[in-house]
Amino acid sequence: MAVSKYEQYIVREPTRSKHNVAVSAWSTVENSRTAPPFMWMENSKPIAGVTHMVEHLWIWKDTAMGATVEKPPHKHDLEEIFLFLGTNKDDPNDLGADVELWMGEGKDADKISFNTSSLIWIPPGIPHMPLIYRNVKKPLLLVIFALEAGEMRPKTVDCPQCLANPSIQGIQG
Ligand SMILES: [Zn+2]
Repeated sequence: MAVSKYEQYIVREPTRSKHNVAVSAWSTVENSRTAPPFMWMENSKPIAGVTHMVEHLWIWKDTAMGATVEKPPHKHDLEEIFLFLGTNKDDPNDLGADVELWMGEGKDADKISFNTSSLIWIPPGIPHMPLIYRNVKKPLLLVIFALEAGEMRPKTVDCPQCLANPSIQGIQG
């Protein structure tokens, strides 16, 4: 492709540099999703001057995120937006999977269940995750945004629901 006058503002390949993963090394979590994320930018990387955070993943098999001791649920002072998109062109409303996102902590913890293309706003300070995908029939896309995020600095929180739900154990990544 021709080089643009504004080339410094374009990312033309998967941006896995955050994790030092070569584009050719498509390491996935048990072959269930792109991991590290397919596209990502945050805090002047990979585009100098960028202040927003964007993370994009493909999911094509049952899996879970933020459900392990190593990567538990977290909260941060910034708001975050989760956008879930199905890939069924005959029915864009169909997410192609049964998804469960936990929000809150302790007695306020609650699960959001959905199977349609959906957008969820995470207000500042609200713990979120685990995020669990079951019955994945078609690949789906997840895009996460945080505006004016700078460096996110998430704080981890306890995840009793991770331990209490044995069905997570078989699919977590
Ligand atoms: Zn978050």
